[in-house]
Amino acid sequence: VTGLDSIGMAPAEPNVEVSEAFGADRNEMKVELGLGAYRTEDLQPYVLNVVKKAEKLMLERGENKEYLPIEGLGAFNKATAELLFGADNAVIQQQRVATVQGISGTGSLRLAAALIHSHFPTSQILISSPTWGNHKNILNDAGVAWSEYRYYDPLTVALDFQGMISDIKAAPEGCFVLLHGCAHNPTGIDPTPAQWQIIADVIEEKKHIPLFDVVYQGYASGSVEADASSVRLFAARGMELLVAQSYSKNMGLYAERIGAINVVCSSPDSAQRVKSQLKRLARGMYSNPPVHGARIVTNIVGNSDLFSEWEEELRMMAGRIKSVRKKLYECLSAKDKSGKDWSFFVKHIGMYSYAGLNEAQRERMRKKWHVYMTKDGRMALTGVSQAKCEYLADAFIDSYH
Ligand code: PLP
Repeated sequence: VTGLDSIGMAPAEPNVEVSEAFGADRNEMKVELGLGAYRTEDLQPYVLNVVKKAEKLMLERGENKEYLPIEGLGAFNKATAELLFGADNAVIQQQRVATVQGISGTGSLRLAAALIHSHFPTSQILISSPTWGNHKNILNDAGVAWSEYRYYDPLTVALDFQGMISDIKAAPEGCFVLLHGCAHNPTGIDPTPAQWQIIADVIEEKKHIPLFDVVYQGYASGSVEADASSVRLFAARGMELLVAQSYSKNMGLYAERIGAINVVCSSPDSAQRVKSQLKRLARGMYSNPPVHGARIVTNIVGNSDLFSEWEEELRMMAGRIKSVRKKLYECLSAKDKSGKDWSFFVKHIGMYSYAGLNEAQRERMRKKWHVYMTKDGRMALTGVSQAKCEYLADAFIDSYH
């Protein structure tokens, strides 16, 4: 043993560099496209009104701070599974879902990865190329081997559907397949309903098991139902599947770390066994989860008035992002005489778009135009207001050509 001094420096988290550089930039025209959070039209953080109402109720009730059970708040687990699948879904009615509260999306994925590692040690998971950067950290740390399937086609700035299907087909039988339920990060590109059917066909045929990452339910389209349709399509086929959920984005509960892992099993008995294993894994990692965010979500999802208000705020947030996409596209089409097709900005969904800008183009955006984005070229449109669209369009046109 050489001592702790032998520990080297970990690689810097790329997003942190972007926000630090943005913070240090004194130019008043600067634009931050590296964000992972919602911003208002004034580009300020936003706490949902419905969250404030739920917290007020909680304060009035004077609830205690006792430990939660290992699986989390029972009422939360029920509400979150029902929100995801629909309360009348067969998987819920037949008690085939094992739901355990997780430490937001990341922690829920980490539990899923731990489950895969302990029960399918030789299995691998297929992930999209590209995907959210942290997926690889989560899988590596849990000791789950991964390989990539094609997803993004730089020529069309759209889905490489043929590539995706043939890579999933070419993998050995019985893999896990990580899928983004909606609003794919970083590309903003989702399969169509017809394409989801074909993806499900191939996964079923190959006896793969899907692991859905659902971070944007309601925040992509503005409808919690529409954004859950990919997951529900798989569940309706009677397939086994895993779904990690997060309330960071759709309720703006980033720092509360609230989410869940749901495992749809083939029988209630199997669901009970899986749940016992998830609890066993959670116990050793963090013992039991935090209560505050779980109570907020339970109050909102379980109360019809608050639920309708939440849906309204979801439509507002999703609507603002869509209107920025539209304005940006209009500015680009009006200003760019080269004939370049910028319509991907309105075709993509959720807060991210991926235009595949190369390093030189990103450098020019940053140095000349004070526009900051992550290294992979992901752009978060929450950092854009209507007022910034003209300027941003000029920056794109100048840097692109
Ligand atoms: N998965 C994806 C695709 C994400 O974009 C994010 C957040 O950016 C997460 C998971 C996890 O977020 P959190 O751990 O805050 O719920």
